[in-house]
Amino acid sequence: MKLSKELSTMVSQADKLKEEKESLEAKLKVMNEKVSMLEKIEESIKGLIKTAKEEEDARRKVGAYDPKKGYRTYYDAGKYDTAYYFVAEIREDNIIASKKFKPALYEKCPKCNKKVPLLMWYSQTYDSPEGDTWEKEAFTICLDCKTRHKIKRIARDNRF
Ligand SMILES: [Zn+2]
Repeated sequence: MKLSKELSTMVSQADKLKEEKESLEAKLKVMNEKVSMLEKIEESIKGLIKTAKEEEDARRKVGAYDPKKGYRTYYDAGKYDTAYYFVAEIREDNIIASKKFKPALYEKCPKCNKKVPLLMWYSQTYDSPEGDTWEKEAFTICLDCKTRHKIKRIARDNRF
């Protein structure tokens, strides 16, 4: 079959459109990764504030109000939400949280070398009658570079 001149032109334009589409998709992928990084950083900072409040309420025995579970008189960190802390100590088999909610350990940002505080999250990531999974992850966030870096992640089958 011989294509008309007009149709041949349209075919070559379609090839260019495909290239343009692929280039935009690649840019979109990079932008989505940046958005997800910013979301994680924002979530960590808000998480620190939320956990600090939960710990404070538990200390004052006010009881954190949860509409689904009613009043609780203690804070079961990581059970119903992800708890965030500054890291007090990194051990071979554990990451110890600082309950003071101020930086304790620092690490260099891999991108700009600035010293940034070590943070961590703690959460029950799996809950079943057969067994649970509890996880801790130590990480840094750099607000200059707007990046987050994982330092260490560990899992156990019970609270730790
Ligand atoms: Zn940095």
